This record gives sequence, C-alpha cells and structure tokens, in this order.
Amino acid sequence: MEKAALEAGARMLLPQATAAYEVKRPKSAAFALADNGFFDRVPMYWMLDWPTPFPMVVAEATGARLTDVDGNTVIDLCLGDTGAMFGHGPEPVLRALGRSALQGLTTMLPSPDVGVVGRLLAERFGLSRWQVAATASDSNRFAIRAARAVTDRRKILVFDGCYHGAVDETLVDLVDGRTQARGSLLGQAAELGESTVAVPFNDEAALEAALAHGDIACVLAEPAMTNCGMILPAPGFHKALRALSRQHGTLLVIDETHTISTGLGGYSAAYGLEPDILVVGKPIGGGIPVSVWGMSEEVALRFDDARRARNASGHSGIGTTLSGSALQLACLRACLEEVMTVEAYRAMHRSADIVEAGLRSAIEDCDLPWHVSRIGARLEIVFSATPPSNAEQSREASSEVIEHALHLLLLERGFLLTPFHNMVLVCPALQEADAIRFTRAYREVLGELVHASR
Ligand code: PMP
Repeated sequence: MEKAALEAGARMLLPQATAAYEVKRPKSAAFALADNGFFDRVPMYWMLDWPTPFPMVVAEATGARLTDVDGNTVIDLCLGDTGAMFGHGPEPVLRALGRSALQGLTTMLPSPDVGVVGRLLAERFGLSRWQVAATASDSNRFAIRAARAVTDRRKILVFDGCYHGAVDETLVDLVDGRTQARGSLLGQAAELGESTVAVPFNDEAALEAALAHGDIACVLAEPAMTNCGMILPAPGFHKALRALSRQHGTLLVIDETHTISTGLGGYSAAYGLEPDILVVGKPIGGGIPVSVWGMSEEVALRFDDARRARNASGHSGIGTTLSGSALQLACLRACLEEVMTVEAYRAMHRSADIVEAGLRSAIEDCDLPWHVSRIGARLEIVFSATPPSNAEQSREASSEVIEHALHLLLLERGFLLTPFHNMVLVCPALQEADAIRFTRAYREVLGELVHASR
C-alpha cells in the first residue's frame, strides 16, 4: 500500500482517536486549561509535543505502568524517552534515594560511594577516567570541550540527523551538502557551519574527506542513530570510523545514552568500538538527573596536560555545581550494582523478542512495506521496506500523520509509545503477557489503518 493512501487513512482516523483520548481524561484536560503559572502551562514545553490534544497528567508511574489523574492505567513503552529504561522507580534506586536524603544530597564534596562507582564505570565501559554531570546534554558538551582542549582543534564532526541534547554545535543539518544550524534552533548566535561538519551516516568517503583536513577535534556519534528513526551502522562502518579517526588524530566520542539498550556496556562493549570518550545519560541513575562521561587513560593524560598548560583552575567550562553529588553517586551505585544487571537485560531482551516477532508478523500480514529495527531493548517501526542507511532516507520514510494516528490508537488500547518516532522501549518489569497484548493491539491498529486507507 502506498504511503499517500496510508496517510489519508491516518488522517481519517485521527479525529475519532483524539476524541476518545479526550473523553477519558477530563481531569488532565482541566490541568491543561488552568493558568498555573507555567509558560505553555507545562514545566517543560516539549510536554506539548505528544500527538495528544493535551498532555496526560501522570499521578503515578511504577515499573512498566503509568496511571494518569483520571485513573487510566497504560503500559509505558516510552519510559520517559529512556530516562526510565529500567522501569519507573527501581527498588534499589528508591532505597538509595532514601539513604542519601538522610546523609546529605549535595555538598560539592565526594561521598564514600566514589570508589565503588568509579570502579564499576571503568569495569563496565572499559575507559579508566570518569566524571559525573547532570544530563546527557551536559556530558556531551563537556566531552566536546575536553576533546577540543586535548587536540587543540576547534571543529567537531557529527552525523546528519543526530541528536545529542541541547548542545549548540550538534544542532545542525546537512542541507545541499552544507552544514547549517537546524531550522528549529532558537536564539543561535554562532555560525554553526564554521564549527561543525555534518556528514551522512554510513558514508565512509564523506567521513574520510572531512577528517582529512586535519582540523576536527572529535567525531561525536551514537553507535546506531536513534533520533532520526533508527539507522543501523552498515557492516564495517564502525571499523572504518575508528581507523579513520585514529589516522587523522580525531577523538572518537560515543554517546551511548540511547544505545545502552544493547546490553551491559552498551553498543560499544557489545561490538568492540573502542571510543576515546564515552557518554551515558538518562537511565544510568534510574531516572534521577545524572550522566557520566569517561576518558581513556591516554585522553585523560592529555587532558591533564592541556589543563596544566592553561593553568586552568576555576571556570573551565566543564562541570556544574550539583554534578557528582552524593545523591547522584548513590543512585549510580544502586543502578550499576543492582538495576542494570545481566538478569535485567535478559528480561528486557526476552520481552523485546516477543514484541519484535509480533510486530514483524503484523506488518507482514497487513502487507505493509515497513520493517522493524532493533537495538536490544529498543525497537523502531520504520515506514520503509528496506532499512535507511542515512538521515535523508530516514526522513523520506517517516510520516508524522501515520505516527500520530498509531500513537493515539494504541493509547486508546492502553499502550504508550515515544513521541517524535515509532519507538518501543521495553523495561525489565514488562510482563511477557503485556508484551503479547501489545503486539495484538498493534495488529488491530494496523488493521484499522489499512481499512481506513482503502
Ligand atoms: N544523547 C542522545 C543520544 C539523546 O537521545 C539525548 C536525548 N534524547 C541526549 C543525548 C540528551 O539527553 P538529555 O535531554 O537528558 O540531556
């Protein structure tokens, strides 16, 4: 079936799906209308970017479930867009929160957890020198700054379609072969094309040509792109990326914030990527604001040299007051020791296997030219028959209206997907029976879409 026909079908389904959402949620609607002092009436304005007419106001989130203020309970397959990848409120993290509340949340001094957490990070991710920040955006920003200090180069390279958080230099698009600030970016002062080079993912020739100038401090990359649909690396691409970056004196910074869904040490450990710097944010502390960035021994030594050369104490542009707090260390420890375990990943992968098989067969039975991509516990339904190899192909495949209709119809059946894409994230608390129910609901919804599109 053609995309245009499916889009027309989706458009027809939207009003009814929207009305069904509204009818069930009068209290959330009231919150949405009240003048509560917030800009846009929400504490962070992306909260309006869901396909729903107003946001669901969440009364409680535990494990794999959310209950809104109207008493509707849904299975959460968004998980705060990965912040709650190990489920809402994992017990060990809740205990750590309780303990640190009594011991002091933030002192700008290390707590005794420092030894264990540093060792666990080094063991798990294979890099030896770590720092803690509050968000993945912060860690990426600090990693870039460290890479520039170490290499004494100004430029960075990212892949077209990337998202690494609120990090100025990464918010670019490749338009007609030129790198420019993303159209949606607000309040941008610097000319981003001067400091950032964007190249298509999986394009070794473009990567080599850009690195050959010898002026790029670091490549900042997700191992598989997860913020522009899902784009998997072509066979051999990572090997080439590592070899070329080494050859041209460019550091390789791998952002595992989403791909930590792969397994214990993320995609890097599973596929032997050997980054110089590695970043993980979002779920690493079980949902509290914490992220980590780690350097190889060699990069750490060079960073130290750069710091000494500048006599840089004080305002280095790296670190924030609440970073490395006792609260963060306690939650990191709980998460690394007791939440992000082999058993947890095993449970996630088991449910993800069920979801993957169910989605594939529903797509096949409905004869849709779509496919399912997967990185461990993270799945993406992509509206193309063949996997996209770069952002241009991924943008071509995507369809906002189909996405919206699917989201709303699934929500009506009690399943919450991630906005801005077709991502299904599976946490350890997701029961296999719920995974099966989800695939049945998906099959039903696809049937409705196909019917409406005829
Ligand atoms: N890196 C990646 C790969 C991300 O997907 C995101 C957010 N979606 C970030 C970094 C930024 O995370 P945060 O908004 O928590 O800073």
